[in-house]
Amino acid sequence: RMRIDHAMRQGLAEGRFGLHFQPQICLSTGRVVGAEALLRWSDPELGEMAPADFIPLAEESGFIVAIGDWVLREAVERAAQWHGRGLRVVTAVNVSALQFHKPDFVARVAELLRHTGLPPQQLELELTESILIQDAQEALTRVEALALLGVRLSIDDFGTGYSSLAYLKRVPIHQLKIDRSFISGLPGDESDAAIVRAIIEMGRALRLQVIAEGVETEPQRLFLKRAGCHHYQGFLFARALPAAEFERLALARSP
Ligand code: C2E
Ligand code: MG
Ligand code: MG
Repeated sequence: RMRIDHAMRQGLAEGRFGLHFQPQICLSTGRVVGAEALLRWSDPELGEMAPADFIPLAEESGFIVAIGDWVLREAVERAAQWHGRGLRVVTAVNVSALQFHKPDFVARVAELLRHTGLPPQQLELELTESILIQDAQEALTRVEALALLGVRLSIDDFGTGYSSLAYLKRVPIHQLKIDRSFISGLPGDESDAAIVRAIIEMGRALRLQVIAEGVETEPQRLFLKRAGCHHYQGFLFARALPAAEFERLALARSP
């Protein structure tokens, strides 16, 4: 753990972190409508490190705040570049609880938007259910401030957290992202199918957008399309790609 912690700090300082972008596709048009920025880190001694191997550690030590800050800046700058080249996609960034609860988080986001000129509605922040539930009043104030900026807000891994539905009517969010664990059993698993249908129905009734993650097969995509899901992302269409590759693909298949 200490080795990873040390390597992580060195890695960030020495530019060994990078972002890959996974396309998000509209189920009715087949167009690329967005990209999720996903962290990649390659260490000379430890090799390729998956986020699951180091993000929990970074969350424990607090270093996630520095990493998250870097990710946000990198993603917003990239999104602004794409915007400048005529690409109309929403760039989604994962936000960790510690980062979200920093007093200057909203100001950071506002400053980055101002500095890069990225239209706020082209930035999406992925929050988890637990972020909204811990210190709920404070979280609500913060989410409202972000919504006022015009930034889009999405609930990541929806259905796996504490699943208090109370916040859905209070918090100004734009999208639910159905967790991969419910998608993998589609279309055969009856429980998964029922849960996914219910999330889509609820999202639509609340006028939220619904996206499914972890879509790997054509039958899964078809199920989601028929159930009225708006968007999807997953290996079926593409893995997370280096920025230039994403740009090429999106230019060919964006609105
Ligand atoms: P997440 O935000 O739920 O991201 C989706 C994860 O699912 C990504 O893994 C992605 O590569 C993977 N995935 C996408 N499509 C498929 C598919 O069709 N099948 C399967 N089996 N997997 C798929 P990744 O990149 O390893 O990231 C894992 C988690 O690490 C993310 O889950 C997110 O919670 C966290 N993470 C990644 N980047 C960041 C970041 O910049 N900041 C923060 N705070 N967390 C991040
Ligand atoms: Mg995510
Ligand atoms: Mg997720």
